[in-house]
Amino acid sequence: MPVIYTDLDGTLLDHDTYDPGPARAVLADLMRLGIPVVPCTSKTRAEMLPICRDLGIGGPFIVENGTAIWVPDQWGLVRPPGTGADAGYWCHVMGKSRGFIRGALAGLSVEWANRFHSLCDMSLRQVCAVTGLSPVEARAAQARHHSETLLWLGSAADRASFSDALRQLNMQVVQGGRFLHVLAGGGKGEAMKWLHGALSQRLYPGAASVAAGDADNDLELLEAADHALVVRSPAHEPPCPERDSNLYISQATGPAGWVEGIHKIMEELAKESRYGRFLSERHDYYAAQSG
Ligand SMILES: [Mg+2]
Repeated sequence: MPVIYTDLDGTLLDHDTYDPGPARAVLADLMRLGIPVVPCTSKTRAEMLPICRDLGIGGPFIVENGTAIWVPDQWGLVRPPGTGADAGYWCHVMGKSRGFIRGALAGLSVEWANRFHSLCDMSLRQVCAVTGLSPVEARAAQARHHSETLLWLGSAADRASFSDALRQLNMQVVQGGRFLHVLAGGGKGEAMKWLHGALSQRLYPGAASVAAGDADNDLELLEAADHALVVRSPAHEPPCPERDSNLYISQATGPAGWVEGIHKIMEELAKESRYGRFLSERHDYYAAQSG
């Protein structure tokens, strides 16, 4: 049984419309077959609750670029000491608070402050304009607790120097599809490894991990998983994970690329003859998708 860890924006959801398109039917199949799909996203928990409801995802999810993991109580995973809880989920936090990160940003040379705009400091109207989200969704996107999300206004060279300055403060800077994200601990790869350890210990012994992503903030995730799917983006170059095997780069972009790549990886896993049922059931469907 594989566990699929997937980025959302630009990967499972369209970069511009945030619609899962052809991925919705495949997602429903995976759910029906008991194959868990775990969102691993830069989105916040407030954004994820309605999205999980819409997509029919009832399991754990990883938010704010791998700085917090939310796990349903009913999944029965071992809850580490000190975890928070809310509405039937507990939360394992892997990153320092947004307040800590903002303090570090404020301590940098003042000239950097002209080069970025924090998502949380923007007006709702600005967030809607930059992201295409509705006002309600934009407010949920601003409900950040363990990461700071920046719209970069300077040059790419400036961004590299800025990232170096933050790395010297033991912070991570990762580029998503639209924004630059600053974290202090955790990360998509670390969070996936932690959760996959817990899932394979308790519920899915021997499970293969499958990762899907479209941007540089997915690199660690794509490098940490047993199988990696790079989904091409209409907006930027695909990330280049450092790995020699079990790597698939989609031809199609966004959710269509996700469907294409998940099909290929399921085919690979089926060669190990563990997932033949999935494939035989879906062969016609996928043939129609790719034909
Ligand atoms: Mg993305």
